[in-house]
Amino acid sequence: MADRGFDLENRLETLEENDLKRTLSPVDRVAERGYFAQPSGSELPVLEATEALVFASNNYLGLTDDQRIQDAARQAAATVGTGAGASRLVTGDTLVHRDLERLLAETKDTERALTFSSGYAANVGTITALEPDVIFSDELNHASIIDGCQLAGSNTVVYDHCDVASLRTKLEQRAERATREGREPADESWLIVTDSVFSMDGTVAPLDAICDAAEEFGAWVMVDEAHATGLYANGGGIVQAEGLEDRIQIQLGTLSKALASQGGYIAGSAELIECVLNEARSFVYSTGLSPPAAAVASEALHVARHSDARERLWDNVAHLRDGLESMGFEIWGDSQILPVLIGDRRDAIAFADGIRERDIVAPAIRPPTVPDGTSRIRVVPMATHDQGDIVTCLEAFRAAGEEVGLL
Ligand code: PMP
Repeated sequence: MADRGFDLENRLETLEENDLKRTLSPVDRVAERGYFAQPSGSELPVLEATEALVFASNNYLGLTDDQRIQDAARQAAATVGTGAGASRLVTGDTLVHRDLERLLAETKDTERALTFSSGYAANVGTITALEPDVIFSDELNHASIIDGCQLAGSNTVVYDHCDVASLRTKLEQRAERATREGREPADESWLIVTDSVFSMDGTVAPLDAICDAAEEFGAWVMVDEAHATGLYANGGGIVQAEGLEDRIQIQLGTLSKALASQGGYIAGSAELIECVLNEARSFVYSTGLSPPAAAVASEALHVARHSDARERLWDNVAHLRDGLESMGFEIWGDSQILPVLIGDRRDAIAFADGIRERDIVAPAIRPPTVPDGTSRIRVVPMATHDQGDIVTCLEAFRAAGEEVGLL
């Protein structure tokens, strides 16, 4: 019989041959204490605790371990339930969701906010709901933005990374074309979309200049603050740090990084939220955020606003950046994400192994995630690292750098 299946073996071999194969680390180290008994009587293995220090997490404020946050999850589970049970539009809406959305809108200084089951779903759902005629998208935007643009069927024009001159050229070309073809500005909807902090390069988008260009051409701006929410002024992102709330129509992000939870959100005008709530399929046809996830994000937002966690994070970032740069490493960007350039993908793997042997976890980022020849270690401190942890990390980088021949 003819085989119409998929040659998975060959696909995996090709990945392996090109050093591109990824895998989840083996889960084979069950700790001495063995098993954790579930109330049902079933057992879950307890994994061996690792002594390693993680310097690659998006848990930037270290809040996933915070007692207050864990209590919020327990309380929400006990009082509201562990799951929403249905889409928000059916029976899955609770006061915990409403409270989080109120807090997000307040933080983002918008009329309203709406939560999704992930940041990925927020991007795909919002872009497809808006169905822009033309989208201008930074070349390094997150995969969920790229997928949203494709799924929306929009004309997507990609501009050079964080390059406003390139964006302006594309806007001008598109405007000339519209004029040539006899279309009025009001005939076409234009959306400029960008991450605010880019996760693999640590760069920060020039939002003020992007807004200038957008206003000149009548486009809307959508900013993905996944890597910035919670870290800037009053628990907001770059939009708040730069006071651009009134010039950016759509602020969007995830609850899964600094906010120590799971889920995504958008914030904007009441009209925008009402439209997205009706038309974003990833909202309408997906179960509401679990109440513990919503409560965790609310509590984390509160902690981000009112504790010294942000200050501790930025102190650690400065210490780590200075230390690495003074050793001679090249570090990109200007955010809490410190991409240390290694170059060759095999060197990057050897480097990551080298620091891992010294109990520092920061994996190699390599193609296809980043372009060939720019493999890197993406090192990110957390607010909960202490000075000793930073020193341990710096020592591991020096030793691995010497081993790989970079220093
Ligand atoms: N946008 C950006 C910029 C991200 O980095 C991510 C997550 N890596 C997402 C969106 C998706 O968020 P989530 O993990 O909540 O799906």
